Amino acid sequence: MPFRSGFVCILGRPNAGKSTLLNALVGEKLAIISPKPQTTRNRIQGVVHVPKRKGKGGGQIVLVDTPGVHKPDSSLGRKMMVEVREALEGCDLVLVIMDVTRKFDPRDQFALDLLRRPKTKAFLILNKVDLIREKSKLLPLIEQYRKLYDFAEVVPISALKRNGLDTLLEMVIATLPAGPAYFPEDQVTDQPARFMAAEIIREQLLLNTSEEIPYATTVMVENFEEGARLTRIAATIYCEREGQKGILVGKGGLMLKKIGTSARLQIERMLGTKVFLELYVKAEPRWRDSRRFVEELDWRRQLEQRMFERGTPQHSGTEPSAREDRNEDRQEDSKEEPVAHAGRIANGDDDPTKD
Ligand code: GDP
Ligand code: MG
Repeated sequence: MPFRSGFVCILGRPNAGKSTLLNALVGEKLAIISPKPQTTRNRIQGVVHVPKRKGKGGGQIVLVDTPGVHKPDSSLGRKMMVEVREALEGCDLVLVIMDVTRKFDPRDQFALDLLRRPKTKAFLILNKVDLIREKSKLLPLIEQYRKLYDFAEVVPISALKRNGLDTLLEMVIATLPAGPAYFPEDQVTDQPARFMAAEIIREQLLLNTSEEIPYATTVMVENFEEGARLTRIAATIYCEREGQKGILVGKGGLMLKKIGTSARLQIERMLGTKVFLELYVKAEPRWRDSRRFVEELDWRRQLEQRMFERGTPQHSGTEPSAREDRNEDRQEDSKEEPVAHAGRIANGDDDPTKD
């Protein structure tokens, strides 16, 4: 039995359960999850190491989570769709994930249309089957989907309850070509801890705010100094209006404190150090429509830029209070470590799905 490996892209409309599936398969929390659609804004890679078992060869699955597919209406939305297309191009298999509790709608069709172009090998993943009592109700659904695309397999699962995942992994491995392990075994993601920290803060924003605020906010980590016992992080939460800023700060700063404390505890767990987290809130009108701003959010780009400017990555602190010019500030520090890695940093340069 050869060792098999490849890139597997998870595709589906917002809220189908893509991030939940990624986390369940990888076994660690890589992608932030919330009940609000469009939580995932960047491509996320998770690595699943499948050990050799009786009669079955082992393998490595590099999972790429995508932002939920939707018709873009802003620079941020367009950037998200570029991410989806780029992810699709370099992958060996696509898992099209559908929420079985929802009717098929134009957004699902949009996802299938994306598939047709490069004629990719795809599995249909019927997710959230835990919410369906009579499993026979799935059959007409399967029929319907099979007519729309020539899926290699149809796999019912519950990403949340972790049902059907072993079968899914087996089927995925069997489909992938014989190939090398792309990542060392103790590495589960190529995301820098700095980006993960920003995502954890953003998750708390999503959980603690409502209406338009989750969509109007984003987080940039301005400073990230990792020490053996203490990590100092300074981050800015950008919103679009002064009114939103007021809500985010809250009465007597209570809301910001709540978001900060919850995020800090999670980041501490991720890094295994104490964390000193400073949060700032800033209104940046119409940031979602600013191409420059949205591009700056992209950590791969940020990393590349910093490496380019400095020659080699290095480490220096910044004074969080003197942060008027966002640009200059973010180029300051550059100690990027992927989570749970030992050895070389796998950043954008090593990412085979990247163009
Ligand atoms: P994404 O937008 O496709 O990444 O979706 P998420 O993974 O963020 O999940 C959206 C919502 O669906 C969250 O509230 C999840 O807890 C929920 N969810 C995901 N998978 C399942 C599942 O198998 N069963 C149930 N009941 N809920 C699920
Ligand atoms: Mg997601």
